[in-house]
Amino acid sequence: MDKSVYNFCAGPAMLPVDVMAQAQREFVNFAGLGVSVMELSHRGKEYMAVAAEAEKDLRELMQVPDNYKVLFMHGGGRGQFAAVPMNLLGGANLKADYLLSGNWSQAALAEAKKYGDIQAVEGVIKGDDGSFSLVAAPQFRADAAYVHYCPNETIEGVEMFDLPQTGGVPLVADMSSTILSRPVDVSQFGIIYAGAQKNIGPSGLSVVLVRDDLLGKARPDTPGIFDYQVTADNDSMFNTPPTYSWYLAGLVFKWIKAQGGLQAMEARNLEKASFLYDYIDASDFYSNKVAKNCRSRMNVPFQLKDAALDAAFLAESKEAGLLALKGHRIVGGMRASLYNAMPLEGVKALVAFMERFAKQHA
Ligand SMILES: *Cc1c(COP(=O)(O)O)cnc(C)c1O
Repeated sequence: MDKSVYNFCAGPAMLPVDVMAQAQREFVNFAGLGVSVMELSHRGKEYMAVAAEAEKDLRELMQVPDNYKVLFMHGGGRGQFAAVPMNLLGGANLKADYLLSGNWSQAALAEAKKYGDIQAVEGVIKGDDGSFSLVAAPQFRADAAYVHYCPNETIEGVEMFDLPQTGGVPLVADMSSTILSRPVDVSQFGIIYAGAQKNIGPSGLSVVLVRDDLLGKARPDTPGIFDYQVTADNDSMFNTPPTYSWYLAGLVFKWIKAQGGLQAMEARNLEKASFLYDYIDASDFYSNKVAKNCRSRMNVPFQLKDAALDAAFLAESKEAGLLALKGHRIVGGMRASLYNAMPLEGVKALVAFMERFAKQHA
């Protein structure tokens, strides 16, 4: 497939070119059945095999221990902002602590407040100059039902590589924009969840890993489709799941396996991110103000020395086939998202463009 453009969108994001080509080949005639995979009954044996294979591949990639359920749910990342407190604050303990590191952890906290006694814990220090650095050792309530955090803040470009120390309180992670970009030790988490549209597949789907002891604690008014126990008991088919997204996620999991798994993805992602950060740091035209120990490998925000040039940068980069570089309005400037599917060549093309642009406008 011809790929003369590179899409740096933060989400929905680009998917691997090979995966898109395979999906296209199979689109109207899946496995010789003469119909699309999206036209198959989710309870038929052909689709059940697709679903089971995707789960098996994800378990293998993330080395998910046997005492965790893998759930394929509706509602994306924000659906889980509600599902987590509904499922974990159903008993007498209504306490949960939320580590704040940026926009998405803040939004998760706002949703959770509907369901319990939610405490905010500051996780980053914002400088007046727009800089971000991490709080050294955030403290949590020892009697909280869980601690929630977002290891990669997609908007600010802040990533946490060390786990918050919760002293045994179950840790819940919104990995929407970092899942599958590097290995993680799943056994350190109570719940890992991710909206699919960054590193997994099409939007709408969420993938949830839940430790068994956290099942069966939901508030009685939890909707069935958001109840982890109900979802697990029905193999994520309590209602019709997002079948096409689940299929496409399965293709992405196979692609990651073929690349060498999560260690290989991490090496590639480090190389890509370093290539861009090294160029930005060496330049006096562009800047990134996130402290080096928490710079995101997935989302790289950067500023031009003169914001009056932003519009020209966006127009000319688009012309050069480098799409969706506009930063989120909260931080302004630019943002290049370098998820798994972005090849190193895309980052090199971006840096070459940035060099040309800086020269022209020096
Ligand atoms: C994109 C994103 C979300 C929101 O996902 P939706 O599927 O739009 O609800 C939540 N958390 C993080 C970290 C994200 O990057």
